[in-house]
Amino acid sequence: MIEISDLAAMRSWSRDARSRGVRVGLVPTMGFLHEGHLRLVDRATAVADGIVLSIFVNPLQFGPGEDLDTYPRDLARDREAACGRGVECLFVPDAANMYPRNPEVRVVAGVLAEHLCGAGRPGHFDGVLTVVAKLFHIVEPDVALFGRKDIQQAQIIKRMVSDLNFPTEIIVAPTVRDSDRVALSSRNAYLSKRERETARRIPHGLQAAHELFVSGVTDAGRLVEQVRATLTAGDDLELEYVEIVDPATLAPVNEVLPDAILALAARVGRARLIDNMIVAEGLGADVLVNG
Ligand code: AMP
Repeated sequence: MIEISDLAAMRSWSRDARSRGVRVGLVPTMGFLHEGHLRLVDRATAVADGIVLSIFVNPLQFGPGEDLDTYPRDLARDREAACGRGVECLFVPDAANMYPRNPEVRVVAGVLAEHLCGAGRPGHFDGVLTVVAKLFHIVEPDVALFGRKDIQQAQIIKRMVSDLNFPTEIIVAPTVRDSDRVALSSRNAYLSKRERETARRIPHGLQAAHELFVSGVTDAGRLVEQVRATLTAGDDLELEYVEIVDPATLAPVNEVLPDAILALAARVGRARLIDNMIVAEGLGADVLVNG
């Protein structure tokens, strides 16, 4: 595995690979790798031959008071995990090179960022889109892979690629969950043992809403209420939002169709956790690990 931090060197590596007929796949991450990231690498290996995994904790997508400075980092461990999984190129740019000056010109998510996480994190998705656009221009991947765990992010990136004619194919892979069905996340490292138990109410709440939908309830308010009741059973979890949205517009719906997305964010201790499901699928389409 080669490790590159220089932006021009990254582009040369990628152009050289492509000139040899190699299909380049990119898995963008913020590091502190877990099995959710590594399954994206597995999927990348199935659709491309030269896999680039980027690690960059992007300052542009963190708001004031968020966890930019404390975000978990362990490059030595990440190197080992990526190499063992068949990543050919680890791209680790530094912030000074990615943003030599304040980027005045940015990609704007617009109306797609009005709800869900976008409502509580103004500018977050503009920061995500801007860094993804930069990574796409530096790596020039044929295909890039994202997780459904961050479903609003995935939908907005797909829309950027379509609206701005990026030549990159986007693949969105299922959420990877631990054996207790809590979605894997680098931020789970913030949880104490007790908080981790609290976090289990999140998948439990999603599944309860799914079951209600399967029993014939299509009123969004009732499904949301079901999730609220399950999650806020104690005072150790603070719900930021639960919403059911249309997958294309990401705007809230009243009547729930099978492809609607139920998404939520909750604070447990100092961790802000997000999760979601496609209402008709529940957690059934997700991947369980460590069982
Ligand atoms: P992050 O490092 O958290 O920015 O995530 C990098 C990529 O991995 C994003 O496309 C995420 O959606 C994806 N990802 C993170 N956690 C999971 C998970 N539990 N299951 C599937 N994909 C994930």
